[in-house]
Parts: sequence; C-alpha cells; structure tokens
Amino acid sequence: MKKLNLIIIALVLLSLSSYAQDSTNFYATMALSDAKELKKDLPNEIQILDERRNEAAVYLTPNAGHVLHDRVLVHGPGYIFKKSEEDAIAALYKDSKESPHTRMAFTITEDAIVNQTLDLINTQNIENQILELENYGTRYHNRAAATQAANDLKVKWEAMATTYGRTDVSVRLFNHVNTGMPSVIMTIEGVQTPDEFVVVGGHLDSTSSQGNNDAPGADDDASGIATITEAARALFEVGFVPNRTIEVMAYAAEEIGLVGSAEIASQYSNNNVNVISAVQFDMTNYNGSANDVSFITDYTDGSLNSFLMQLADHYNTTGTHEITYGTSLCNYGCSDHASWTNEGYMAAFPFEANFGQHNGNIHTANDTFSISGTADHAAKFAKLCAEYLIETAKSGVLSIDESLVDSVLVTIYNDQLVYNLEGANKNFKSVAFFDMQGRKVYETQITSNKGTVSIESFNAGIYVVNFRIDQKTSVSKKIVVK
Ligand SMILES: [Zn+2]
Repeated sequence: MKKLNLIIIALVLLSLSSYAQDSTNFYATMALSDAKELKKDLPNEIQILDERRNEAAVYLTPNAGHVLHDRVLVHGPGYIFKKSEEDAIAALYKDSKESPHTRMAFTITEDAIVNQTLDLINTQNIENQILELENYGTRYHNRAAATQAANDLKVKWEAMATTYGRTDVSVRLFNHVNTGMPSVIMTIEGVQTPDEFVVVGGHLDSTSSQGNNDAPGADDDASGIATITEAARALFEVGFVPNRTIEVMAYAAEEIGLVGSAEIASQYSNNNVNVISAVQFDMTNYNGSANDVSFITDYTDGSLNSFLMQLADHYNTTGTHEITYGTSLCNYGCSDHASWTNEGYMAAFPFEANFGQHNGNIHTANDTFSISGTADHAAKFAKLCAEYLIETAKSGVLSIDESLVDSVLVTIYNDQLVYNLEGANKNFKSVAFFDMQGRKVYETQITSNKGTVSIESFNAGIYVVNFRIDQKTSVSKKIVVK
C-alpha cells in the first residue's frame, strides 16, 4: 500500500512538473524593456541571461510570467517560452531577415469566386461556435477540457469536409513537446502546387489571470477559431478548390508563450516547408474602435499587411461587406503570428480594435459572448480571411479531360437540359451551371449518366455546364439559354 501511495505521489509530482512553467521557473525571451522592469519590481524572480538589441533572454518564475502577462499592452503573454537556456540565448542571435522562403507577388484576380463566397459567410455559425467553445468552461492548456476541445474540433472540421464531399481535405492533431494539449491542423491540398502553403490560424487555449478556474475565452480566442472555421466552410460551400495547399490551424498553448505555434513553425522551417504567408486571427469579435480592423504593424510583414489592406480596398468598400481599417501596435510575444515571423515566414495579424480599445474582459471569467451579443464583428474578419485564402491559394484549375468532351452530349429541349454522358464511360456525380461572370447559379447531384435538369428559372444568356466526375476532374460545355 505504502509503495503504491509513493508511486501515486511521484506520478502526481511528475504530471505537475511536466510542463515547466506551470509550477517551476522557466526560460523565455521578451522585450528588453519588459525584462528590465520586471527585474526592478521582482528582483528575485527574474534573471536576465543575455540581451541583444531590444530583446532579452531570461529565466523567470511562473509568478513573474503572470505579472508580465497581466501587464501587456494589448494581448498575449508578452514572452516567448524557450525550453532551455541555450535556446533562449540562441533566439536572440537568430536573424530572420534573410528568409529562405518564397516571397510571393500578391495579386487580386479571383473576383467572381470571392464575391460569391462573401455572400455565404454566416454570422450565426460564428456565434454558435464561440458559444460551443465558451461552454468548455476553461481551455487552459493543462486542463482536460483543452485537449477535449482540440479532439472535438478535429471531429467538427472532419464532419464539415464530409458534408461538402471534400476528399481533398484532411485534419490532424499536432502533438507538442512543451504542452500536453495538441494543436489541430486542417489541410486542403492544392491541386497544382501542393508544396506551397498558405496558413490561417488562431489559438484554441484560454487563460484567466484569476487562476484559470473560469476562463471561457469567448473573444480570446474562440472568436478567432470560429472566424477561420466559417471562412473554410464558406470556401467548401462555394466549391473552391485551391491551387496551393491551405492549412487552417488551431494552436495549443498560446497563452503560455506561443508554445504550440512556435513548435509548428519551427518544425515547418526545419523541414523546409514553403509557407507563402500566415495570417493570425486572435480576438475578432469586440467592436472597440471606429475602424473594423486594426492591422498590427510590429512583428508582422509590411507587404502582407499592404496586401490585406488592398483586399479590403478591392472587396469591402461599401454595402453589406464593408470593412474599414487602420493600423496599431501589439508589442513583443503578442500572438502566434510572431512564431511564423521568427522563422522567417511572412505573417500578419488583423486585430479587433486599436491599441487600448480592445475587449477589456479578456483573461477574466467575463470573457463571454454576451459582451458582444452578436458575431457581426467577427464576420468581417471571416470575410477578410476568405479573401486572403482565395487570393493567395488561387483557384485550382480543375483538370478537364479533353478526351471526354466529345462523348458528353447536351441539348436544350422544353426548358430542360438533356444530357447523355454514356459515351464517356465514367461515373459522373454532379452537374453545375456557371454564368459568364463565373458565378455558380445552380448545382445538383446526378445519379445516372443520362437525364434532364430543369433550367426553367434561368435568365436568358450563356452558361457553362460543368459535369463533375470527382474533386479534381470534370467536363464542361457551353449552352445558350433563350
Ligand atoms: Zn489570444
């Protein structure tokens, strides 16, 4: 019995200390000014190991970490966790300026599908998911509820892909070294350049400065997770197939020093994964400023920020999809975009409000959906997210099997499209009609290779009829409706 008790005690101690900073001192990097201030206020709780430019490598107590977290100007822990002294110091001397990764020329070319997608962004879906995540109570990284939220999100994303028949989508858990909570990554494989990636993300964990017993984290950052989920769903609904690979990421353990995103970005960099750019959505649902979106200009990429502004100028100037924007600062270790920036990737962070005007309830038990009461603000970010994904990943050109074109026969008779696909000797699954602006006006499943589709409700004009065999292969014919 005694021995068993000792083993149990040892296991409890082991689990308490397995993620350093919850119970013991740990290494990190932070802004030099923050390190000096902490040293002045808590001289016995922080050791400055090295400094370079405006950054310090430090060894600190969990309490000092919490004090900094509560002091940060806008958001985030204010420090980046490092697993050893060596890693903390090395981070100071790492030059991210000479990026080994592709710098892409950004273009805006996908008007038809973007405009169609903007109409599909559903505010209610965002609200539902924020409430779903809020209901876990607290998603602090070492809580069972945090891991449960990650497992459940994987199932939700998989179900979403299945609903839209997306065989090009996969979802995986990314297990970490410095937290027991996994991140969740949804991959939409590019049809032409699958080795080039575009990334959007938010963090799934939450925290409370009152002890993490009640950290609903609705705005910080259930709102970001709901935003990127709804953007991806709209892409599925519109039938967007990307040229480049898209990854949608729900990061673990952001609140304890960007732990999840740092491990992912570092692994991608070590494996030479060509991430074109990454955009972070962390707090999207509190409308605190005159502008809808504040682009954070520190620790982000200037040309990517400019591109996101160009997207808003192009797609969101007036009407129901209007988005106004400004710029703001967020400081050191502010959110997961910094993990990508540190690895030399282009990253951006569109934030819910200007410096000092964001949701003041974050990191408390009051960070609930009821503070905003609607997901209208987050919906604007979901639109920006969808625009960014479509315009950076670009529409995949579905392979059209020319050899099949002649064996696909269509005629129009009595307001019906009459089709005969038997000569192709393939199983066709659906037929879609596109107008000359590229808008999908109608789509239906087909179960037989011979049949009719009513086009009675179509306006006169030219349409492209697209018969699809699978996600990547289809055959198109033009028709004229009089
Ligand atoms: Zn956050």
